[in-house]
Amino acid sequence: MQYIRNDRAVEVLAAHYGRAPLAVVRSFGCQQNVNDTERLKGVLLDIGFSLTGRAEEADLILFNTCAVREHAEQRVFGNLGALKALKQARPSLLIGLCGCMVEEKSTIEKLRESYPYVDMVLEPNGADRLPDLLVEKLTTRKKALRVPPIRTEVVEAVPLRRESAFKAFLPIMFGCDNNCAYCVVPLVRGGERSRAAADILEEFKALVAAGYKEITLLGQNVNSYGRGTEEKLDFSDLLKMLCEVPGEYKIRFMTSHPKDATRKMVDTIAGSDHLCKHLHLPVQSGSNEVLARMNRRYTADDYLALIRYAKGACPELTFSSDVMVGYPGESDEDFQKTVELVKEVGFTQLFTFIFSKRPGTEAAEQPDDTPHKEKSDRIQHLLQVQDEMIIKLAQPWIGKVFTGLVEGEGREEGTMAARLDNNMLVEFAGDEALLGQFVPLRIDAVKGAVLKGTLA
Ligand code: SAM
Ligand code: SF4
Repeated sequence: MQYIRNDRAVEVLAAHYGRAPLAVVRSFGCQQNVNDTERLKGVLLDIGFSLTGRAEEADLILFNTCAVREHAEQRVFGNLGALKALKQARPSLLIGLCGCMVEEKSTIEKLRESYPYVDMVLEPNGADRLPDLLVEKLTTRKKALRVPPIRTEVVEAVPLRRESAFKAFLPIMFGCDNNCAYCVVPLVRGGERSRAAADILEEFKALVAAGYKEITLLGQNVNSYGRGTEEKLDFSDLLKMLCEVPGEYKIRFMTSHPKDATRKMVDTIAGSDHLCKHLHLPVQSGSNEVLARMNRRYTADDYLALIRYAKGACPELTFSSDVMVGYPGESDEDFQKTVELVKEVGFTQLFTFIFSKRPGTEAAEQPDDTPHKEKSDRIQHLLQVQDEMIIKLAQPWIGKVFTGLVEGEGREEGTMAARLDNNMLVEFAGDEALLGQFVPLRIDAVKGAVLKGTLA
């Protein structure tokens, strides 16, 4: 299905406002969510809106939400609460909630009870439906707060307003079929569907031609790319196809699921300079019992075997991971197995999460008897292990020169930050003129998770 501009929405908006209406769109979630927000903004611009960062002057405020952990939802509700006064002062203001949270019954109930000034909800991957929703609001003023059906069509050519002029997200698939016992994603984003390789290639070529230097392929489980598509390409084949496009660019991707990550993919990464030498491979736990209860469908040994192979096939490859702590029934012994695995792999970055009960998931029904304090202590311990690990891992890089893509300002005045192929961030003395360029950097020191360097 292809996006087509909604001319009726253009007319209705022009007649209603008599000027370009102003919209605020805020993202609260993962990279997929940021990319969906880019699409929401693109569609709004396409039908005549202008964008603003100031809620006080906006005609429309959209929050694009995340449902993966309870904390993310609380942030959204907190921010929604702050809009109450604005809506009271200016009842014509339209407020909409988009993304994963709106697929949960509990969200809709809470909106009806405590946030009745929210005007509309829009499902994940629903950007192309936004114009119709706005027309409905402006012409009928009807409030329809109910859980929308999950959007399963893949819609191509939806306009985007990209956040960056040199880094881009490119979704290759949507949804997830894995049903990890703790995870709400399959419930709110539906089953897995891959984009046609030809559509991905077209978007990729356009990004390279427009000067994008880093393109991140997105999917909940990129390794299962291609199931159900006509072309019969797997993820490695797709990577190889993209790497044939001439140009100065790097490719990243996320997320890889360990059960589907293959040696073929590792060999593909090793075989092309376009592919960044970094693999984000969420392990979640080092205990086989916990992994089984999570329905992850691999063991700690399977995971370590792949890592060992990857280290042999591509020695410069670095690894990062997600680890969940305090999963229902996780014993201290289980946690120690996670610590051992983390030490054995040597991750350059670790994203740690305390288990959060998500309504509708299997894990929400499992008895969870570990005290919160114990879970926080486990996280602290892991972070300490990680802090020590990164200093050790970075030692061999000191004195060497690497190429990095300058992606923003550093934390200290007069410094910039560049991302290396291996995903490490390097801060160095430099100015904004370097933004979006590949530069050679000599590594001088390690400071926490960030490297210090100088332009070489
Ligand atoms: N599809 C990816 C994968 O399988 O690793 C990532 C999906 S999820 C949005 C990102 C991370 O959030 C997961 O790797 C997991 O560690 C964490 N996460 C997911 N559900 C969670 C929950 N109920 N509580 C705590 N963390 C959770
Ligand atoms: Fe959630 Fe598991 Fe799918 Fe990742 S692979 S999105 S953790 S169900």
